[in-house]
Amino acid sequence: MRLAGPEARSIALPMLRLKHDLEPGRAIFGEFIEPCGSGAPARECSSGTSSETRTGVSAPHESTSAKQRIDEVVVSYFSKPNSYTTDEIVEISAHGSPVVLRHIVELALGRGARLAEPGEFTMRAFLNGRIDLTQAEAVQDLIESQTLYQAKIAAQQLEGALSRRLQPIKQNLIELIALLEAGIDFAEDDVSVIPAAQILEHISAIRAPLDELALSFAYGKIVHEGLTLAIVGRPNVGKSSLFNRLVERERAIVTATPGTTRDLVTETVSIEGIPVRLVDTAGIRQALDEAESIGIQKSMEALADADLVLVVLDASQPTTTEDERLMTLIKDRPAILVENKSDLRDSRIPSAVLATSPVGTKFVSPRSQAWVGERETSSLVGTSHEHASVPVTLSTSALTGDGIPNLRATILNHVVGDAGSHSESGFLTNARHQSLVRDSLTALDAAQTAVGNRVPHEMLLLDLYSALRPLDEITGATTTDDILNLIFSKFCIGK
Ligand code: GDP
Repeated sequence: MRLAGPEARSIALPMLRLKHDLEPGRAIFGEFIEPCGSGAPARECSSGTSSETRTGVSAPHESTSAKQRIDEVVVSYFSKPNSYTTDEIVEISAHGSPVVLRHIVELALGRGARLAEPGEFTMRAFLNGRIDLTQAEAVQDLIESQTLYQAKIAAQQLEGALSRRLQPIKQNLIELIALLEAGIDFAEDDVSVIPAAQILEHISAIRAPLDELALSFAYGKIVHEGLTLAIVGRPNVGKSSLFNRLVERERAIVTATPGTTRDLVTETVSIEGIPVRLVDTAGIRQALDEAESIGIQKSMEALADADLVLVVLDASQPTTTEDERLMTLIKDRPAILVENKSDLRDSRIPSAVLATSPVGTKFVSPRSQAWVGERETSSLVGTSHEHASVPVTLSTSALTGDGIPNLRATILNHVVGDAGSHSESGFLTNARHQSLVRDSLTALDAAQTAVGNRVPHEMLLLDLYSALRPLDEITGATTTDDILNLIFSKFCIGK
């Protein structure tokens, strides 16, 4: 339980019997006690002896039976302004029984504390100027992170990575605004008006890093929200088996009867710290009954919604018209083509056929007229991937596990792309930030056009202020109550 505010100590101390006096930044072992023994509601009790009210350390002569022990606790005290919110803070850590914790909270409420609103501690940290808005949002991301990698990225942002990247851009923009303002204000006082070419150069220097930041959202969004991967194919090619292999446990029902996965089965797995939401779909074919047709409809929707599509074919059988229809459907979509049941391929397809019809050339890709062959796959893994135009073809066996590590690596490669350029951190992971960066870029576009049209500098300044405002909104310099409420209302109580 965290108590923040000027009365944090005076509320907490009568409920504590500590080994030592509270000291800033130090955790002290002690006991949590009913403030007036007997278990009577705290609000009816006096607040203890004067020595306890001061220090919380019990006098040696005092009878312990008068004060009922509720739990052993560790108490940390943070003095103003060196605390999370910059207020006086007392934190009491108990063993974690919900009953005890609720009782501790009730006793504190009885002594004059009030419950924190969702996100209120973090909001106070922001309002008191200890953190900026991107850092406050990073606290939320940190709490919600599903993988360690997401937590690390949030921690970098909490440490101010995005603000550090934005600051020089803002500074540059403010300098340009100041130059133009000076030109207008002191026109009579010999301050020369800057030439148009120089203004354009200045705007380009502001744009370039901002453009880069906007581009980083493609990767940041995936890090933040994860990615949806739909597994599609005709019935019985091994979609559920591959799903299970990727999930690493038996989640989807595997049967030998075609057309049995009629609903969507989803599971989120972490591939190198990126949450990947796998969707196992019903086999796509001409439906035999209504239930199957509903399942197929859902598969189509999942296919349409997915960030990446895994098309599964049966390596042991010749390609069917259904396979070909499916490949037309995923035309121009980021996709990976998997030839599953590779363990059966050699036994069922005569080797002569394999020799004349290599994996890479038996399907027709809409753009390249040929899927990338199995042999090229390894060279694609680990390099920057190009979406959609050339689907990577892999060979797997869900039965033996053959090719599964390569499949994971290929999925990751689709996800990360040229992540190397973003790995220095400070990239956009938040849709609110992305939309504000775009607003700023749009205003800079308008400013560039305005310079080209030789509009008066007073008008040009309006565009430049419009470019500055959204950047301020990211870090919080000009934040309205509405934005604050939106951000902090998403927090869990008390964070
Ligand atoms: P789905 O209908 O596409 O989801 O296919 P399932 O995953 O239900 O698999 C259909 C049948 O193929 C089951 O009997 C599986 O055991 C079998 N199967 C799946 N993958 C493989 C594989 O790689 N090799 C072999 N030999 N059998 C497989």
